[in-house]
Amino acid sequence: MGNLTGKTALVTGSSRGIGRAIAERLGREGALVAVHYSTGADAAEQVVESIEKEGGRAFAVKAELGVPGDADTLFGGLEPRLKDRTGTTDLNILVNNAGVMAMGAPEEVTPDMFDRMIAVNAKAPFFIVQRALRLIPDGGRIINISSGLTRVASPDQVAYGMAKGALEQIALHFSRHLGKRRITVNSVAPGSTDNGSALFQISEVRETLSQLSTFGEVAEPAAVADVVAFLASEDARWITGAFIDASGGTLLG
Ligand code: NAP
Repeated sequence: MGNLTGKTALVTGSSRGIGRAIAERLGREGALVAVHYSTGADAAEQVVESIEKEGGRAFAVKAELGVPGDADTLFGGLEPRLKDRTGTTDLNILVNNAGVMAMGAPEEVTPDMFDRMIAVNAKAPFFIVQRALRLIPDGGRIINISSGLTRVASPDQVAYGMAKGALEQIALHFSRHLGKRRITVNSVAPGSTDNGSALFQISEVRETLSQLSTFGEVAEPAAVADVVAFLASEDARWITGAFIDASGGTLLG
């Protein structure tokens, strides 16, 4: 029995990277996990299989985020599957992890690029939270995956940093809104985390990113997933409205 047995969780963007590690960790703790994806159907199925292989329960749900009607598409897929598996549409844990990142000189950011950053990284999570509130019972958990780049200057990622800054506001304002229901709302900020992309295989890049952390390494996704699992647990019931630095000491200055 894990400490999330009997709970349900939705992890957006859990077909790969940090989201995958979060889904697998919550699955190991006993939660029934909705593995959300957009384009990676096979990858999402593999995550479901890996959770089931460990004795957990999971299913995949598809929705492109950052487009009109995204939250409705997501919950339109989620609710019947929850009902089918549990008899209710209760959602105990929502992890807004899906995100897009882009790099480029601030002078080169176009209105379309900027709009997409905001649409996927800030607007979609807001409306997912708004929509999820119908399903989240008292004592639920909302965890938003931000970035250390809301605290460390990186001019080539200004639009991304702005979008993540907006995302973090959800924890501040919704934690006050939902306190009476004992629903906690927090932000987790990873630093450089090996999400399996080719970037992390380039040794010079990896070395540079490693040196940003006081531990001299880039994170494995599991290091971030463990922090999320703690926030999802009963032990974290008194933490809300918080910004949790999970950057391996990148933000020490
Ligand atoms: P990743 O490996 O690039 O995976 C992104 C995930 O989000 C995928 O599952 C992808 O789904 C989904 N996704 C992306 N755009 C989407 C869209 N428009 N609609 C629906 N789903 C979408 O990401 P990651 O590096 O693990 O990052 C996860 C989170 O941590 C992000 O919010 C990121 O900003 C944050 N973060 C990452 C790092 C890092 O170093 N990795 C550092 C700080 C913060 P499909 O593949 O199925 O399309």
